[in-house]
Amino acid sequence: MALANFSLAQAPASAPGVTTGSLPSLGETSELAAAAERRIGDRIAASIYRDPDYIDDPVLVDYVQSLWLPLIAAARARGELHVELEERFAWQVFLIRDRSINAFALPGGYFGVHLGLIAAVGSADEMAAVLGHEISHVTQRHISRMLTQQSRQTPWMIAAMVLGALAAGKNGDAASAAIVGGQAVAVQNQLNFSRDMEREADRIGFGVMTDAGFESRGVTAMFEKLQQASRLNDNGSFPYLRSHPLTTERIAAAQARVQLASMEAEKPSREKLVEAGKARVLHAMMASRARILAAPGVDALRSMVAEAQRRTSPLVMQAPASADNVRDVGVVYAGAYAAAQLRDFAGARTFLAKLRPFVAEVPQAAGAADLLAVDIDLLAGVVPATAASVDISKATSRAEVLTQARSLLAAQRAQDVSSRLQTWVAAHPKDATAWQLLAVAYGNQNQNVRAIRADAESRAAQLDYPAALDRFKAAQGLMRSNPGSADYVEGSILDTRTRQTESLIKEQALQDKVDH
Ligand SMILES: [Zn+2]
Repeated sequence: MALANFSLAQAPASAPGVTTGSLPSLGETSELAAAAERRIGDRIAASIYRDPDYIDDPVLVDYVQSLWLPLIAAARARGELHVELEERFAWQVFLIRDRSINAFALPGGYFGVHLGLIAAVGSADEMAAVLGHEISHVTQRHISRMLTQQSRQTPWMIAAMVLGALAAGKNGDAASAAIVGGQAVAVQNQLNFSRDMEREADRIGFGVMTDAGFESRGVTAMFEKLQQASRLNDNGSFPYLRSHPLTTERIAAAQARVQLASMEAEKPSREKLVEAGKARVLHAMMASRARILAAPGVDALRSMVAEAQRRTSPLVMQAPASADNVRDVGVVYAGAYAAAQLRDFAGARTFLAKLRPFVAEVPQAAGAADLLAVDIDLLAGVVPATAASVDISKATSRAEVLTQARSLLAAQRAQDVSSRLQTWVAAHPKDATAWQLLAVAYGNQNQNVRAIRADAESRAAQLDYPAALDRFKAAQGLMRSNPGSADYVEGSILDTRTRQTESLIKEQALQDKVDH
């Protein structure tokens, strides 16, 4: 995809930062450049939020965050990520419902990860290898340097080009490529990372992922996977390969790094091996979830169910999970979720019951099985079995909070949901999905002013300020026509948010004039 499809001969090999690997702190001009880049990124992000292929699956988002946060912390600790850039940029990952294998960095610290990538990689370490590489493209300011080279293009045009290339990169789909027509070609010629930049992202990314505690072999394993995949077919399923050709030089450099790292590394302790085993169990489940949420079609879902049936015959599977049957865990998780998608809920619950003993000793994986049970019940349209007893105030992870919120809404426990989500959005005001669920919870309690405001906040969190303003005003109108519908505090929050959103829209309109 787009910014990843970088052939870019024009990039100056001697640009500062390419060889040193460390960055000067942002000067006044690059402060400005960073602000401009963030604005381009925000435009692109606003479009991605409206794209039907954007997916906020809290379970997969939590999983990707669990890899992402240590990588960001490592980049910071190594001095690759400066405090100014960290504050200026979004550092946000979008999941895209797309079966092709791809990940890419966008302007302003936004990143895209296709579900196909999560489904294809064999471990968290392989995932971290890709993410570390993409993070390094941003911390080393590769994107900002490319944008500078696009100085004849207005920021608005750059955002449009990136979006065009994003559309063209989807599933290697000829139809969407046709929509953007010649523009995709133009993007490929103009927005490409240079070989030096790729080399640097490989080198810095390796340091970031190993400092973050991931196994260095993840890099070579990922390369092997891509090589294998590219030999099997070349039908556009591997846009990452198009943007990151596996040259012999790249592979050799990676192998040398891994070899050096494993010579320097101490022999892993027993605890570390146990932790690594647990991480593999969780990854197997998450890869299966990604495969199914990428909407592979009925035939693929049926074959997942069939494979799970084969693997759950009593002689094959042995609990608890060990290195030998990690694959089985993924297969059975896939069988359960695929059966639910095919509306065979009894089958789904049978697989889930067979999965549980395998994951009982791995807390995160057992938690993922609990959440899958709720997903299956909600897909079946029944009140989840645990909904009567669950205490949402004790839920801590985002996946738990949001999944339990959906479960409790089904069980008519809207008040418990709104009180937990109020605290949640106070701490995470940009969580659009949480705001949406909060809107439903208020609506179910006939608190309509609050419901409309929560809906407005969810639009604002997805950078759609005009839609947010419409709703803030609607809530104000409802309050005026029905003075008892909300209290004074709610009214003053509404007034403040309306004014803030109006000024954001004005600013944006002014900026649009400059950027066009
Ligand atoms: Zn790259």
